[in-house]
Order: sequence, then C-alpha cells, then structure tokens
Amino acid sequence: MADLDSILRERFGFDSFRPHQREACETVASGRDCLLVMPTGAGKSLCYQLPAVARGGSALVISPLISLMEDQAGKLIEQGFSAARIHSGRPREESRQACFDWAEGKLDFLFIAPERLRVPGFVEWLAKRTPGLIAVDEAHCISQWGHDFRPDYRLLGQRLELLRGAERGQAPDGARPLSAPVIALTATATPMVQQDIVNQLQLVDGRKLIHGFRRTNLAIELVELKPSQRADAVCELLDGARASRPHESGPEVRDPLPAIVYVPSRKECEALAQQIAENVPCMPYHAGLTAAERDKAQAAFLAGDVSVIVATIAFGMGIDKHNVRTVIHTALPATVEGYYQEIGRAGRDGKPSRAILMWGWNDRRLHEWFLDRDYPPVNEMRALWNTLGRGSIDFESLANELELKPEVLSGRLDKLAAQGGAVLDADGFISQGGEDWIEPYENQRAHKEDQLDRILNFAQGNTCRMLALLNHFGDRDDMTPCGKCDVCAPQRCVLKTTREPDAQEMTVLAGIMERLLQRDNQSTGKLYRDNFEGAMKRGEFEDLLGALEQNGLVYTMQDEFEKDGRVIQFKRVSLTDAGRETGNQLDGAIVLTGAAPKKKSTKQAKQAAAKSAFKKAEAKAEPDPELVKTLKSWRLEQAKSEGVQAYRVFGNRTLNALAANKPKTRDELLDVPGIGPAKLEAYGDSILELLQG
Ligand code: ADP
Ligand code: MG
Repeated sequence: MADLDSILRERFGFDSFRPHQREACETVASGRDCLLVMPTGAGKSLCYQLPAVARGGSALVISPLISLMEDQAGKLIEQGFSAARIHSGRPREESRQACFDWAEGKLDFLFIAPERLRVPGFVEWLAKRTPGLIAVDEAHCISQWGHDFRPDYRLLGQRLELLRGAERGQAPDGARPLSAPVIALTATATPMVQQDIVNQLQLVDGRKLIHGFRRTNLAIELVELKPSQRADAVCELLDGARASRPHESGPEVRDPLPAIVYVPSRKECEALAQQIAENVPCMPYHAGLTAAERDKAQAAFLAGDVSVIVATIAFGMGIDKHNVRTVIHTALPATVEGYYQEIGRAGRDGKPSRAILMWGWNDRRLHEWFLDRDYPPVNEMRALWNTLGRGSIDFESLANELELKPEVLSGRLDKLAAQGGAVLDADGFISQGGEDWIEPYENQRAHKEDQLDRILNFAQGNTCRMLALLNHFGDRDDMTPCGKCDVCAPQRCVLKTTREPDAQEMTVLAGIMERLLQRDNQSTGKLYRDNFEGAMKRGEFEDLLGALEQNGLVYTMQDEFEKDGRVIQFKRVSLTDAGRETGNQLDGAIVLTGAAPKKKSTKQAKQAAAKSAFKKAEAKAEPDPELVKTLKSWRLEQAKSEGVQAYRVFGNRTLNALAANKPKTRDELLDVPGIGPAKLEAYGDSILELLQG
C-alpha cells in the first residue's frame, strides 16, 4: 500500500492531515469498514478519497445531493483524477458512458444518487467490477431517526452485499474482509442514528470514529428568561455594551457582530428584526418571504451590509461566513442536533464567539403543540385511516369530512403514507393502505418526544455545556470541561447574572454538604424533606443543589425503583472529590446564578396579598355578559374569515373565562383555559385589544 503521507501531498496537495483524518484514512485503507462522524467542514471527503487512491481501483460514492456530487466530482477532476457521476441532472449519453468507463476500470471515482439503485439491472451492472471501496456520504439519510430520512437509502442496505463484490470472507489475519470496505460519512448522527447506520449498512467489524465536535472558541450560555424579557435582552446584547465583558483570557469578544438570531415564529421574526434595526442594521429571514427576499437578506449579510439576521428557518445552511461572532436562540430549539448545527455557525474563523440560548419551562409547550399537530396521538391517525377504509376519496372531501385544515391533513397523510398506511394515486385520490403503520408511527412519535426531553435536559443541565453536547453525539475526547460556558464560568456570562449566596442560602448550602458528608449518595427528595422542608421551597432547594453541582462540589444521577409495578424515577446526589475536600467550608466557594428569590418588602408583600385576593375574586367572578356577547361576535367574524367552525377559534369555556378574568397581558392570556402558545400567537393581540376596548 502506498504511503498515505505522500499521497496526501502529491495527489491532493495538502501539507498535513487535519485532526482525525489520518486515523480514518488508515482504517479504510486497511480494508476495514468505518462510520465517520465529524462536523461539517472537518474534511470528511478526504477520508474516503485518499484511501481510495491508496487501495487503487475505482471507488463508488453514493451521495444524496446532486449539488454535492457535482462539486466533489468537479474538484477531483481538477486534481487530475478521472471522476464521473450518474444522476437525473446529467444527459443520458454521459451516464451510459460512465457505466462503460466503470466496467472497463477507467474511473477513479464514480458518484451515484441512491435513486439509481432502483433502476433494474443497474446494480448488477456495477457489480461486474469490485470497487476499491464504497463511500456512503450523508449517511444519516439512511436512518428514519435522522433528520433527512431518504427512503431510497434503505435500498442500499439490501444491495450493498452485491456491490461490495468478491465473496465476503476474512483474510487469514482474521481482520480484513476481502470485499470492498464501506465507509459511511455524516456530520450529524446521535448514537441511535449511528447504530442504525451500522445496522442498515451491515458494516463488518465497523469502526466508529466520532470526532471533532468540541468547539474550543465557543462560549455557550444558557439563561432562563420570561418570553416578554427576551427581545430586550437580545437588543441589549447586540448593542455591545454588555458583550464586552470578557469571557476568557486572550482576545475577548468585544464586538458581538455579525450575529444570527434564531426565533420560533414568523411574527417574532418580523417584530424582533424591526426592534433590532432601530440600532443595528438587521433583516428578517423566514419561510413567509419569497425566495428572492431571502436571497437578498442572505447576500446582504454575507456582504456585511447588514450585521444581524433574525431567522426562523435553516438560515446559514451552506453559507460560508466565517466571522459570525454571536448566535442567539430566543427559545428552546426542537432538537439538540439542530441546536448544535445552528451554534456551529458562530466562529468558523476560530476566534472567540458566543452562543446564547434564552429559554423557559413554557417553551416546551410550544413544541408539544407542534408535536400534537404534526404527530397526533395514534387514535387520531387511526380515525384518518378508518375514514380511508370507506373507499378512496379526494383530498378536499377528506379535509372536510375530518374538519382538518389542509396543511394539517397533508402533514398527517404524509406520515401515514410514509409508513404504508395510505396510498396516493396519480389522480390525487387517496385510499387505505396496510395496517402495519401503527407501530413505526408510534415509535416515531416517541422518538420526537424523546428529542424534546433531551433538549430540555440539556437546558436544565448542571454540567459543562460543551461536554453535554459531546456526550449527546457520543464524541468522547479527553472530556475536560470547556471552561467557557455558563456552567464552567458563570462570572463571565453576558446575560446570566451571578451573586453571592445570602446568609440563609449559605446555611442551607453548608447544611446540604454536612448531610452528604454524613451519608453520601442520598435521594434529593428525602434530603429535602428530612432537613430543609421548613426552611425553603423545594424549587429553591433544587436551585441550591444545582449551584453546588455547577460549582463542581456534588453530582446528581437519575435512579429508579419499582413500586406496585410502576417504575418511579428519582435523583440521587453525591459528593465529588472536590466536594469532599471542601466539606461545609463554603465561604467564597459558591457563586449562584440568576436573581435572588424575591424576599418581599412589606410594601411588596401587601401588594402581593392584594393581588392574590384580586385574583381569587376574579376567578370566582361571573363573566360579564356584555363582554361575552362581544367576544362571541368577534369569534363569529374570525371563524368566517378563516372558513372554519366557530369552536375551532375558541370554545365557550374560553370565552367565559376571558370575560370573567379580563387578562391584560400575553402572559396572563396563557393562564386562560384553551389558550396555548398557538392560539396566543394567532389571536392574542386581537383579544387584548378587544378586552381593553
Ligand atoms: P466535510 O465533508 O467534512 O464537511 P469537506 O471534505 O468538504 O468537509 O472539506 C472541507 C474543506 O477542507 C475542503 O475545502 C477541503 O479541501 C479542505 N481540506 C480537507 N482536508 C484538508 C487538509 N488535510 N488540509 C487542508 N485542507 C483540507
Ligand atoms: Mg461532506
């Protein structure tokens, strides 16, 4: 086998390997299967291209995106390799020629789209020649748990055996399969997706190389904020005055710009972009804009004409801007993978950068609402399936019958069809499919819920943010804390405030340490009930425990026991080595984050008492009949304009509660039964206006 270093220099023109490339190249060059997970831009392509040259012969590359194929084949040809590609965008003649060239062994690289595997006889034709290796790019597309599932990729698993050529078998040294090795490459795969790829592709003795997820120039900061506080916080941040607080030794992030701000809805996108633009050049970017408007925003950002983009959707995909200093999220993202990709757009130039996530407990409700809409409980899907059982039906009639908005119905149909539960024919009629959809559908829904749990766990976590992310992807490097995030370095945060514990908190903190010194590894619930129940609320106690954990003195672990056939989850807390050393001598050892729980002044206490008395009175209050009438006629108008039934706008219970409690703010609206984030978004402002009038 040729020497990898000289191939790197002579054929690819690079002076040295980037981190982890050598390991991957050696693995594949030696004929071992491999799953390579490294972030975008890490240089994965070289990890199949170089071993392909080292092994000789022709390499087969399966790639899901035409643009990717064109780009890579083009680069290889420039470097003097013979590379061809077969996909729907190429002239037929050229594809035929590529096939012949392949059969004659004239190609160094052949790129094919996964759809080609469906063409009868194609795989058999390819299999006439045993490739030097097979590379599967963007391999997460093969997993239904990945975020870009491509059903055609599934065919790959079945056809790979044939494509690998030569009978499977082991060389005498026992390690090396005789057939072509397979390398699967992706930038985004959780351990579950990784395992799925290994299974689907039947990687032999497959080595998993998962590397490079640590970003050393990124300071991640999470801060709990009420939704109403977030826009001002963003503006303050981008204004630069506060961002100039140093967050590490060495060069500081003095200027927070350029910045990308991710927001959860179009409306917030527009409003926030407008607010920011009062001080800093800024443009919105969301799915409601035309492609031309989005291109314009993107170009302006790239050129530096605007320094802030406020975006709802995958802004930044494929854009090459290296000096983004700040990425802000104004709400909890839907998945950890998405979050990681988005913050990855900060600091590509390697200079210190910030990623700030504002979140709150209620953020989860918005995602749950989307989940219920996009992945309704299985009985609702069954209703749809049953309706189809009465005979094939066109889309409109189905939407009417089920009283579903078209976009909601089409989402559900997609999901049903993907699992074979519905069949769409060419004339637009829909009929019932098999019954096998239920289990995979339920799995998928559970998976989505699991993803929500994970991002929430991440937000609540008390360990180094970077380590938590590495852990999520299964990247086990040296596992040292990053030293920059809000957990590692709370004093250096820009939004999260820190303070010394007050006397009472100090007593409880020391008390916790003392109890743990007496008996380590206790259940947190019992620790609280036995010792601190009288002193403070459970939530405040948990915050203090969290502070001890953040300061590295204790660690907590999930545990469970069974009672009456049910599994009960609880948390245990133990001392770390540092905690045992420090014991209850905590002076100066602890910083708390966030504001102190309000110790009410007499005046505040009086106000609070008055307010809660008011609330109780209101809760019992009869709805104002005039107001109910007004609300009802508003509802009727609204329903008419949307073309839906009145009860789809609001139920009577909600109208009565509105008329009785007369909420004055968006937050108060959320307390009214029947009003969740979506209704708030749709009707909140009109209702508030109406109630004020
Ligand atoms: P990925 O697929 O991981 O997103 P690519 O393979 O497209 O990344 O590589 C990103 C860029 O890095 C490419 O421009 C490539 O030429 C460059 N690159 C890869 N390896 C090296 C190396 N060893 N030295 C210098 N540049 C490299
Ligand atoms: Mg790539």
